[in-house]
Amino acid sequence: MNTIQFGIEVIDENCTGCYRCERACPTEAIVMVGPKTAAVAVVDHEKCIACMRCIDACDDDALRSINRDEPALNDVDLSHVDHEAVKDMCRAADMSPSHLICPCAGRSAQEVAAAILQGAGTYEELSLRIGVQSGCLMYCSVPLRRLLLAGTGDARTDSKVRRYASDQSLMDINPELDARYPLFNVGLEQQWRLNEIAEADVDL
Ligand code: SF4
Ligand code: SF4
Repeated sequence: MNTIQFGIEVIDENCTGCYRCERACPTEAIVMVGPKTAAVAVVDHEKCIACMRCIDACDDDALRSINRDEPALNDVDLSHVDHEAVKDMCRAADMSPSHLICPCAGRSAQEVAAAILQGAGTYEELSLRIGVQSGCLMYCSVPLRRLLLAGTGDARTDSKVRRYASDQSLMDINPELDARYPLFNVGLEQQWRLNEIAEADVDL
């Protein structure tokens, strides 16, 4: 369970209308309001998971974090889902249920599958429900795509956040690729670490 303690406030006079925050927000909590060349960012607090990707994206000091009046929670209850359906979805996505797919939010394949079964059918809805894509978007994009395809038959990539329509993930890097690109910052070492974490988890 993740507790969301913060929200985002826009400092209107600093906002230059560059759209960077809108393109960084995994839940589509930010929309640009106004004429295209003079728009200002507006935050829907109900959709904000306090990932701070927007603050990282803003070069103009136009966003700041604020305390929420009431903390919000995002979670999925594994005791209320069909475990066989979760396993089937993970199998169809070629993943172990305990495979850690979003290290930033600490979410496993079985939690994503459960959230899909409970109605989260898009990247944005998954992000809002269980906090995936709340950090780097490097590790989770492809596993999320595989699980969405397995669970809903669809994984649209027309959202403002850039995602890749590829099925390759960190777990597909082989020794030959790892040796060929030694300076690339993901490889067999990170794969090994993820497997260690997954093995420490308890399967359904
Ligand atoms: S990134 Fe900052 S300056 Fe650009 S639109 Fe968002 S709030 Fe405004
Ligand atoms: S903190 Fe995250 S979820 Fe909230 S508005 Fe910024 S990018 Fe969107």
